[in-house]
Amino acid sequence: MSYSAPTTTWLVDSHLQDAAWNQAFDRQWLRRHARGEAPALLRFHRSRPGVSLGRHQDPWREARIGYCRDKGIPILRRPSGGGTLYLDENQLGFSLVLTAPDAPLSALLERFARAIGKGLAALGAGADFAFPNDLERDGRKLASVFAAEEDGSLLLHGTLLLQADVQTMLEALRVPTEKLSPDGLAAARDRLAPLAGLLAPLPALSHLQAVVANSLAAAFGLDLAAPSGLPSATTEEFILPAPPTGCEALWKAAGGHLYCRLEIAGGRCLRAVFSGDVHLRPGDWLENLAAHLAGHPLALLEEQAAAFCARHPVDGAGFSGDDARHALRLALNQHGAAAELGLSPEQAGALMLFGSETAPLDTLSHASVMLVPYCAKPAWCAFRHQDGCAECGKCEVGDAYRLGRERGMQVTTITHYEQLEATLAQMKEDRVEGYVGMCCSQFFRKRHRAFLAAGIPAVLMDIQGANCYELKQEHAAYAGTFQAEARLDAELLQKVVQFIPFRGEK
Ligand code: SF4
Ligand code: SF4
Repeated sequence: MSYSAPTTTWLVDSHLQDAAWNQAFDRQWLRRHARGEAPALLRFHRSRPGVSLGRHQDPWREARIGYCRDKGIPILRRPSGGGTLYLDENQLGFSLVLTAPDAPLSALLERFARAIGKGLAALGAGADFAFPNDLERDGRKLASVFAAEEDGSLLLHGTLLLQADVQTMLEALRVPTEKLSPDGLAAARDRLAPLAGLLAPLPALSHLQAVVANSLAAAFGLDLAAPSGLPSATTEEFILPAPPTGCEALWKAAGGHLYCRLEIAGGRCLRAVFSGDVHLRPGDWLENLAAHLAGHPLALLEEQAAAFCARHPVDGAGFSGDDARHALRLALNQHGAAAELGLSPEQAGALMLFGSETAPLDTLSHASVMLVPYCAKPAWCAFRHQDGCAECGKCEVGDAYRLGRERGMQVTTITHYEQLEATLAQMKEDRVEGYVGMCCSQFFRKRHRAFLAAGIPAVLMDIQGANCYELKQEHAAYAGTFQAEARLDAELLQKVVQFIPFRGEK
């Protein structure tokens, strides 16, 4: 297929397609454009249900694989960074492929999002840009945009919520099952601002697309023209990787989360794996950093990462080489702590550290507070939804209270998120220098801002057994009778706590 003038941007509407087809089309058009075989293209589209992972994300962490398989919802990987999307017919997709303008990635995402917002404002549904890649109305998400670059060509794409099937969205994505309760669903709905709630009636799709197209044309200097036809796309199979094993460190960058997992043998890094919802270019920067680290002794890993970052600058939206180095340092700390605490590989995998600048043993030597989740108390326990424990010996929470009490620590049961925030704020005010705690790893990630706001170094332990994030409990959750009983790993707790000094029994 040929095109008339290289300066023309084709404008098309692909209507409703399989999510895999839409994704393959974008990827393949970007490649063709980079090779000079296809013109710039602005395409509107809608997708049948699918889960779209950001380029760097781990599917096991982001999607409910079993649910998606049961429901025939394909899991796909985008060429662009950012977080996971649940796609369906209720969203309007838009993809722009063009020669990459000379601007940082964060500025391009912002320009793209603001242009969409300007189009919506013309229709009476104004929205604000929310760094790094969202459009929001009063803090509620309306649209998200993403970017991928290949050899000087840029794909900017995104989705605009026309309506929102929040329940399927939450079931397909790995979000807390607590969010599937009636209250949780209402809260999730509250965080979204579909266009149907802002404009009644919804404008015709053709009108909406024309307004958005004009706005994008003005923002990117596009000369839009309709082609006579478009080639199709060949869908690519998504290969589900093996579930990750071993310990994984989490670092929260300004623009997203970054995880680092190290596979180690004989004091050397066999493999480093970085994953997360960050936006960066070149798109293969994290893979190249990982390849660079492989084979080096652990003692030289940070030095090697610094050398790589100096030689290979990365352009990120709220992400820099320093963020990758922080994540690496946390992963190294985690391995160091596992060795010093004498942890099994499973126990090491359950360790979650907060504060990359502080060695875990140092944190433990200053730890004066222990935080315990309510879900580790039996459902029948009178203390389940309140602080305190009678140490009756019928669950591991009693061990935690005893170990903390013997060391003169303040032991607190966390019964809900706001209480965690208040407890951490008080600890900050009291100048607590370190603490230990237990929570599920999903909570640590999704509610990371609470730990960040306090900024106190912490050694946290993942809990075992049922937790809010396991989908199979959703019916109880809908009925508001969710009674998950998690378990603390008493042996891991004992191994961690032994490094906390005795300061007189409380
Ligand atoms: S040990 Fe504490 S939390 Fe566990 S059942 Fe007994 S009183 Fe409840
Ligand atoms: S720590 Fe327990 S209550 Fe909190 S989110 Fe995790 S499983 Fe749910």
